[in-house]
Amino acid sequence: MAKNLLRGAAIELIKSAEMMQARSDKTRITGGKIAFVPTMGFLHEGHLSLMRKGRNLCDELIVSIFVNPTQFAPGEDLDSYPRSLERDLELCEKNGVNAVYEPPDGQLYPDGFQTYLTLDDLPHHLCGLQRPIHFRGVATVVAKLFNIVKPHWAIFGEKDFQQVQVIKRMAKDLNYDIEILTGPTVREADGLAMSSRNAYLNDRQRKDAVCVHKSLLNAQEQVNSGERDAQKILEQAVEFIKSFDGTDIDYIKICNPETLEDVEAIEGPVLMALAVKFDKTRLIDNMTIGV
Ligand code: AMP
Repeated sequence: MAKNLLRGAAIELIKSAEMMQARSDKTRITGGKIAFVPTMGFLHEGHLSLMRKGRNLCDELIVSIFVNPTQFAPGEDLDSYPRSLERDLELCEKNGVNAVYEPPDGQLYPDGFQTYLTLDDLPHHLCGLQRPIHFRGVATVVAKLFNIVKPHWAIFGEKDFQQVQVIKRMAKDLNYDIEILTGPTVREADGLAMSSRNAYLNDRQRKDAVCVHKSLLNAQEQVNSGERDAQKILEQAVEFIKSFDGTDIDYIKICNPETLEDVEAIEGPVLMALAVKFDKTRLIDNMTIGV
């Protein structure tokens, strides 16, 4: 087990699945409780908020850093995804993480790998419309990470709302003895949801990107003013986002938060979710709106 001696601190950097499993077995045998935050690295305050939530629950806080190739389609940003391991380790250490599991490329998908997890319905909505293999990759890697890290709690961000639903469903369907917890979306001062991908935005795009969150706030205002027709609210949101040059809407939906199926009339809490491209940078956001 490679101690992260660079920092001279207690945090451990673990590269091997077997060593991670052995560490978690040892924690569990002595009655220790494990909380787990899976990430793709390039950490920001959104990730750190989930770590702090885990820290308050457990004896051992584990973070994984792995840019999972199976959730990227050819032509997506797998190769350019930002990475900053040294800085990430410092942030983990400062936030009370006991160990970081960072498998080398190839370890989780060795030659001959052929077992994937698919869900029947949830992946066919929202992000799955444009990214048909994405949630197969997410469910598969999270199941593998659960088997490697063996946590009691796993904590995910509501920014990726559909991901949370997929993982909750997968954990329930496969009887994982793990409690899935969530943390609210952490935003920049102007409302933009924090994301590792925000680093791709140029100054102009960064300024305009606030329209993604603003469209959700506008929708709630319309509901507050008495509008109940989801289609009308969506049309206004599309018009608003298109008024920013160079935006390309992947999807924008008002849907049932459990099934993710479209909702026509807003009669209670519903999920509004969208993905907008600024050139090649695809940003997502969501908010529960309703009466
Ligand atoms: P990622 O590294 O983007 O795969 O994200 C790892 C975890 O952090 C996922 O559970 C995300 O939902 C969560 N996360 C990412 N951005 C935010 C944010 N702005 N607020 C809260 N959680 C977030």
